[in-house]
Amino acid sequence: MSNSNHRRQRRNEADGFTCINCKLKVPGESWGTKHRNHCPACLYSRHVDERPGDRASPCRSPMEPIAIEAKDSGEWAIVHRCKGCGEIKVNRIAGDDSERVLLGLALRPISRPAFPLDDAR
Ligand SMILES: [Zn+2]
Ligand SMILES: [Zn+2]
Repeated sequence: MSNSNHRRQRRNEADGFTCINCKLKVPGESWGTKHRNHCPACLYSRHVDERPGDRASPCRSPMEPIAIEAKDSGEWAIVHRCKGCGEIKVNRIAGDDSERVLLGLALRPISRPAFPLDDAR
């Protein structure tokens, strides 16, 4: 009895999730990531983990992608901020994340400068 429950839970995890923002059905496994936690189309995540994969957070609010972190290795990560509690998390990008949306996120501060870029030094 408990065995089949356990199996069902694991399968649901592999089956993925429905994006909380754009309602895309997101498969659980993808090229380049084991723990997919955000939508490849709009990059939204959901606050379900205290630590990666534990599903222990009671928050369950949408997590908005707010920035790109570029690591020294050349790898990119997405900075997510929870719309419910304000928590900030950094997540590795997945192989099939929308490159257009990733670029838009990376260029956002440049397209909305807080000071005249001509004067920057
Ligand atoms: Zn989405
Ligand atoms: Zn939260």
